[in-house]
Amino acid sequence: MTPIGHNLQAVRARVQAAERAAGRPEGATQLLAVSKTWPAAAVRDAWEAGQRAFGENYVQEGVAKIAELDLPDLAWHFIGPLQSNKTREVAANFHWVHSVDRLKIAERLAAQRDAHLPPLQICLQVNVSGEESKSGAAPAEVEALVRDVMALPRLQLRGLMCIPEPTENAAVLQARFGLLRNLRDDLNQRLSLQLDTLSMGMSHDLEAAIAEGATIVRVGTAIFGQRNKPAG
Ligand SMILES: *Cc1c(COP(=O)(O)O)cnc(C)c1O
Repeated sequence: MTPIGHNLQAVRARVQAAERAAGRPEGATQLLAVSKTWPAAAVRDAWEAGQRAFGENYVQEGVAKIAELDLPDLAWHFIGPLQSNKTREVAANFHWVHSVDRLKIAERLAAQRDAHLPPLQICLQVNVSGEESKSGAAPAEVEALVRDVMALPRLQLRGLMCIPEPTENAAVLQARFGLLRNLRDDLNQRLSLQLDTLSMGMSHDLEAAIAEGATIVRVGTAIFGQRNKPAG
């Protein structure tokens, strides 16, 4: 088995243990392998070890990797900051976008998604850390954004995503993840929706996220190793 295959086994074991500890069913949390900065060969190793869902942060890099890899059943998730001038390539190449944080981006994705493709699966990125972080919609803005995004064609709104500020404080982390879960649950109740996705948790904090109800954890370093190239 390749080193990536071994790492994947270890991460799957962590996910399972966290599900068990939280009293959640096995398989309640999907593992998204974040392959940003790693070459197509690394994705291939992970695919051979059974991994099918991959996350990318940078449009150009992600699109090049998608074009290079001709493997069955791959699901590509865009999880990075998204500028208006890059939405067309994302709409054409990815299955999911986790980082929609304003209506303009959603409108462009809806207009640019080919009607012959399945709907683009969307999560809204929420700023759960207040002034500690700048990316994501403010929690108070999310309900209006949900209503507007639900009205757009060719998108399927699935849930919410967050990236808490770096912290060693377990209680703070739990509060950030809990905020996202409560927001999702409130939206489902108030608007009679069935948003099923909470995209939260990374290599260092996936256990805390799973304890708070994560349905997708986005894991890079623990699968592929330390990224030493500068991001972007
Ligand atoms: C890089 C990245 C991850 C993965 O982080 P690791 O700490 O390497 O697991 C997850 N989510 C987003 C949005 C990222 O940019």
